[in-house]
Amino acid sequence: MISYQSAKEEIKQAADIVSVVGQFVQLKKAGKNFVGLCPFHGEKAPSFTVSQDKQMFHCFGCKKGGDVFAFWMAYHSLTFPEALKDLADRYNVRLPEKHFSAEEKKKADYRENLYRTNELAAVYFQRELAHPVRGKAGRDYLEKRFLPQDMIEAFRLGYAPKGWDGLKQFLLKNKISLETAFSAGVLKRSDKGRYYDLFRERVMFPIMDLTPKKRVIGFGGRVLDDALPKYVNTPETPLFHKGSCLYGFAASRKAIRETGRAVVVEGYMDCLALRKHGLEEVVATLGTALSETPVRKLKGIGKEAIVVFDADDAGKKAALRTLPIFLNERLPAKAVVLPKGHDPDSFVNSRGLDAFSKLLDAAPSLFDFYIDQKLGSRTGDIDHKVSVLEEIFPILTKVRNETQRALYIKRLSEKTEIAEPVLFSALKGLNQFSAKERPENDIRGQFASLNGDRSIGELQLLNLLLHYPETVAQLRGRHCRELISDPTVRRIVDIIYDGYGHSETLTFEVIQERLDLDEDRIWFREFGFRPAFCSDREVKQAVREFIEKAQKKKIADSFKKAMGDPQAINEILKRKVQAGGPVGN
Ligand SMILES: [Zn+2]
Repeated sequence: MISYQSAKEEIKQAADIVSVVGQFVQLKKAGKNFVGLCPFHGEKAPSFTVSQDKQMFHCFGCKKGGDVFAFWMAYHSLTFPEALKDLADRYNVRLPEKHFSAEEKKKADYRENLYRTNELAAVYFQRELAHPVRGKAGRDYLEKRFLPQDMIEAFRLGYAPKGWDGLKQFLLKNKISLETAFSAGVLKRSDKGRYYDLFRERVMFPIMDLTPKKRVIGFGGRVLDDALPKYVNTPETPLFHKGSCLYGFAASRKAIRETGRAVVVEGYMDCLALRKHGLEEVVATLGTALSETPVRKLKGIGKEAIVVFDADDAGKKAALRTLPIFLNERLPAKAVVLPKGHDPDSFVNSRGLDAFSKLLDAAPSLFDFYIDQKLGSRTGDIDHKVSVLEEIFPILTKVRNETQRALYIKRLSEKTEIAEPVLFSALKGLNQFSAKERPENDIRGQFASLNGDRSIGELQLLNLLLHYPETVAQLRGRHCRELISDPTVRRIVDIIYDGYGHSETLTFEVIQERLDLDEDRIWFREFGFRPAFCSDREVKQAVREFIEKAQKKKIADSFKKAMGDPQAINEILKRKVQAGGPVGN
């Protein structure tokens, strides 16, 4: 029987962390490592680091890190068993039957049931759409919107018919408990405790996750007419977090990477209509304002976003709300506002993709759009200008890059006809930027922060042991451990000493796994990403110096202990004279 550990190893052999992470984060080579913008926290300069040798990643900003499984879990919000299964499937590694603890198993089963419920619901809605009688209204709607059959199938569109318990009965028949269906968000529960279908008389759009399996994690349901609410989405569940999802992302990821841009629209139908006409790099928000998480994910694969809005006031307001997010995440963004009376769906269906592409190509930056919208036609009105500036300054203070900020000020000056120096000094008056916020991009700064109370000497010693494993044999048993006062560093060195010489190789990762404390592991990961402090040629010299230092320390310590015992001091002095040769034990 294959063990779970060996399956894990096998996956690691196959799943190179740089290529796995590289599918979701744009990585650049930097020395021995790769760096990119962290998908787990907002940052403008890369502190997210991936090491190919170590097969580990670490973010110097938010401290998230670990191996390829840790990445997969964090990025896709999955449990370890799920990540293991995903990667095992992907890299054709067979997993043993039993490999998890009872607790892990229980949690995994619970989530597995939620996935199953969503999958069954998707199947149910698809069948209902195909039903000659019950699905007719849904099919008519899709036909009216010119959506071809192959796309209906590819995106697994469905229909939730009239009635309160069609899905409920279907799930019960498939041995899904009502409680589970409720947790998966497809049933609602009345005050009296009765369960009923959440989606009724709606065209159903399943929302898939970004894993290769494209698992259904939630649904958006759209009414057939103008009734409100226009969209109903799955509520928050353990699998579905509306704020971090984009519709159609799984399908468009490749195209976004290839074209470098992501076209963001507001509705599911808009997204599908554009795809039908051949624009593949398109995603839709889930009827909510765009939030940081999806922007961060887009930033991981594309170079710019073009946000498309309806011409109505709500559309424009939505456009304006997204500016701070794009500025914050520093993903260049453009804004397209469609002609009055159009949404992307109606526009592309009536005028074709060429006309739509022209709008995309001519799109102004979101910043310009924002200022134009705010200033409106009242450009001569000083009071109005001031009120616009009051709105825009707080946003500008979030732009930490000085060059970029200067560019925005220049644009602002052109548009408001207020001299740049005046704007600069007004902005400085707010005094909110720079001083307080530590630049998170300074990797060297982050490395320096590692030292804390630790002496450079002990850090160099650990660095030497890690980068030149052959020095372990030369330094172990030479009292070098006594040079270390920091408990974390001691614990790590003990693991290295203990493990050295055993049959298995003591990799960076094995050391990390043997550390019991989370804080030790984080510190160690961060430390491990530092380069060697000496070159190959200097190793011998470094070893010699550490041994000498350790000897001196041992003698000094003995002195302290022997104070008051003249005989002992004499002995030590004699030894000190002879010192130079090894004094090891
Ligand atoms: Zn981070």
